[in-house]
Amino acid sequence: KAPMDRKAGDKPTGTAAPKSSSASRNHADPPPSIVTEPEEDAEQYSIGGFLGKGGFAVCYEGTLARNGRVFAMKVVKSQMPQKKMEEKFRTELQIHSKMRHPFIVQFYRAFAFEQSTYVVLELCPNGSVMDMVRKRRCLSLPEVRRFMIQLCAGVKYLHKRFVAHRDLKMGNLFLDRNMNIKIGDFGLAAMILSDKDAKRRNTLCGTPNYIAPEVLDKSKGGHTQKVDIWSLGVICFAMLTGYPPFQSKTQEEIYKKVRNLAYVWPKESEHSNFIPEEAKDLVSACLNLIDEERPDPDDIVEHPFFNMYDGCIPRQLDPACRFNKPIWL
Ligand code: ADP
Repeated sequence: KAPMDRKAGDKPTGTAAPKSSSASRNHADPPPSIVTEPEEDAEQYSIGGFLGKGGFAVCYEGTLARNGRVFAMKVVKSQMPQKKMEEKFRTELQIHSKMRHPFIVQFYRAFAFEQSTYVVLELCPNGSVMDMVRKRRCLSLPEVRRFMIQLCAGVKYLHKRFVAHRDLKMGNLFLDRNMNIKIGDFGLAAMILSDKDAKRRNTLCGTPNYIAPEVLDKSKGGHTQKVDIWSLGVICFAMLTGYPPFQSKTQEEIYKKVRNLAYVWPKESEHSNFIPEEAKDLVSACLNLIDEERPDPDDIVEHPFFNMYDGCIPRQLDPACRFNKPIWL
């Protein structure tokens, strides 16, 4: 199987970057070397190395002048080319700023400086799970267990607060210096408090490879937090195999496979990883076409996959495992 093809299904729909070149022009502008908060006791940050670029933001390292602490600074042009993008960014700030959890990228503050908005975030210097899977092809069972457990803790926290992330994917799972998962990019997050809210939620959003079937089908009457559990199933499959389960050349083909639940595990002889039945069972529980039947994060961590005879869950991971399979002693 081909490794992940970003073009076909790993970029989000819904908040697509504008087709015009204005956003990329914005991206090309280097930020000022010093940025200052607007208040009286204004903090100053010196902008450092480039970290990455998303649909509408560019990220740089930023060092707080007062104490030398380093953050990730997400820079977004205050004047966005589309009203819809502006609204999304506002929702992202509103929701993300209220979250505080060890497995969620910590939001510190947001302020305007010159023509941009700067979001000060916890720095995740070890890239994303996506980068790691690309380099390694697939992850070992102990790593998958560790990431899934951390992910479930983060998602449980979100759902308890009625937040649906709606864009959980390997590229949005950042890694801190201790290789802990940090869920980031709240650009598509939404508060879903009631059935009525759920019914209103019928915009097509998410990233094709990770999108739940009820999001595709407007007649299903909206969607809930359970879309995130579907994505957990996709993430788990992709960490084990190296590619997402519904991967295809075109978006339409991906959607067709999703609706038909058409995914296959690699043959044991053709795959370097041994994938136990327990792992397959967990993934199939999450990839249930009926959203209410998908497990909650609490059910997932109780699954036998996490409790197998050799089911070790490493307490620590060396950042070297971004490039090389760890050797368990
Ligand atoms: P967008 O909302 O435009 O999609 P993202 O939030 O995905 O932007 O950020 C764009 C890129 O910046 C990411 O792909 C990643 O490379 C980098 N990045 C984002 N947040 C952090 C962070 N907290 N620490 C380190 N790098 C980050």
